[in-house]
Amino acid sequence: MARYTGAVCRQCRRENLKLFLKGDRCYSDKCAFDRRSYSPGQHGQRRGRKISDYGVQLREKQKAKRMYGLSEKQFHLFFERAERQKDITGTNLLILLERRLDNVVYRLGFTGSRSQGRHFVKHNHFRVNGKKINIPSYLIKTGDIIEINETSRNVKAISESLEAVVRRGIPQWLELEKENLKGRVKSFPVREDITMPIQEQLIVELYSK
Ligand code: SF4
Repeated sequence: MARYTGAVCRQCRRENLKLFLKGDRCYSDKCAFDRRSYSPGQHGQRRGRKISDYGVQLREKQKAKRMYGLSEKQFHLFFERAERQKDITGTNLLILLERRLDNVVYRLGFTGSRSQGRHFVKHNHFRVNGKKINIPSYLIKTGDIIEINETSRNVKAISESLEAVVRRGIPQWLELEKENLKGRVKSFPVREDITMPIQEQLIVELYSK
């Protein structure tokens, strides 16, 4: 299944959760979820619908997939990689997703959303350890230095995102040198660092069927 290309805010309403997919707008009174926090569509306001175990697992996977802006195929590839690693598959999956470069530039406040992060990474706005990297799924490692390219330092969207980062905060596994437009990976994230309400065990159960 290809990446979702419909109305972005509809995804939050479908998952009944703010997924923060639209940068600054998500924190404003223009947020569609705050205005209409029921599912989209003709039957969106129906109450008391019973959801099967499969339905609950599927929604959890869709929620995580949408948060990170991945297609089904990309998400499943990450799951398979998580499964091959030692320790708990669900935790491995979330940590791998957090380590994606498009997520890291978002977490550092260089972009307002992960989708903008993906777009800016693809357009060569960042360097990792001095090298241009334009692969959004690139996995960062401990000690990596992520910088804004010399030629991209005046990009308005980046400076606006950096101004707004105070509201979101920087996770403790990353360090931002705002004045130098540079970030450092202090360590890999651990499960406790990932505070979005994802029940990863349900995703593991879904894919293990
Ligand atoms: Fe979701 Fe942001 Fe749209 Fe609100 S503004 S519905 S949080 S994407």
